[in-house]
Amino acid sequence: MDLERFEKMDSFSVIRWALEEFKDKVTLASSFNVEDIIIIDIMVKEAEALGMEKEKLRIFTIDTGRLHEETYKVIEKVISKYGVKIDFYFPDYRDVEEMERKYGPNLFYKSIELRKLCCNVRKVKVLKRALNGFKAWITGLRREQSVTRKDIKKVEIDEINNGIFKINPLVDWHDVDIWNYVRENRVPYNELHDRGYSSIGCAPCTRAIKKIEDFRAGRWWWESPESKECGLHVEEE
Ligand code: SF4
Repeated sequence: MDLERFEKMDSFSVIRWALEEFKDKVTLASSFNVEDIIIIDIMVKEAEALGMEKEKLRIFTIDTGRLHEETYKVIEKVISKYGVKIDFYFPDYRDVEEMERKYGPNLFYKSIELRKLCCNVRKVKVLKRALNGFKAWITGLRREQSVTRKDIKKVEIDEINNGIFKINPLVDWHDVDIWNYVRENRVPYNELHDRGYSSIGCAPCTRAIKKIEDFRAGRWWWESPESKECGLHVEEE
């Protein structure tokens, strides 16, 4: 398949193609950042246009056990506004118990290795389980979000997840596009965005940023920009 052709397509067309091509074998990975909720808004509209039942759209989220209360609030809002079903996935309790007994509950502040261990237990291993059986997944990644994301394509082959398709329909959106879409389409969003959080993940590892700071400066702010991925989107060394 010629993946370059997707670069010329807009986000709506890419999502429509994904729903038509993969049907219930494509799933959205949602952490309920504003980008993910925009994608849900577009998926619901495109599903209606295609005559698909929106209840059949596949959307999953990983509840790491360390999320902000505000994230749960926006999840409830999304379910109630769009009538979509969310597949919740949790980490394996045995892995979490072993990790916390060995290193304590806040191990992520102690070293990059322990932070990556926590991301692996609470996110990466769970992602593998969540993607099992799917032919494609959709993400809300954007190129301007960080140095580690500047080369992302709209449609890629995901070598770290069994070679399934990875679809990134908002890669070329800028902040201004995001917030214009939210306003024009009354998209619900996590109230932490209004308090200076640009990228929202687990509560202990996310903080608000100043306007002059990099988009992902609030994630694992004690680390350098090059190490700031949790392993969901890049292969860990
Ligand atoms: S973001 Fe923090 S709390 Fe969440 S999984 Fe990674 S290290 Fe653990």
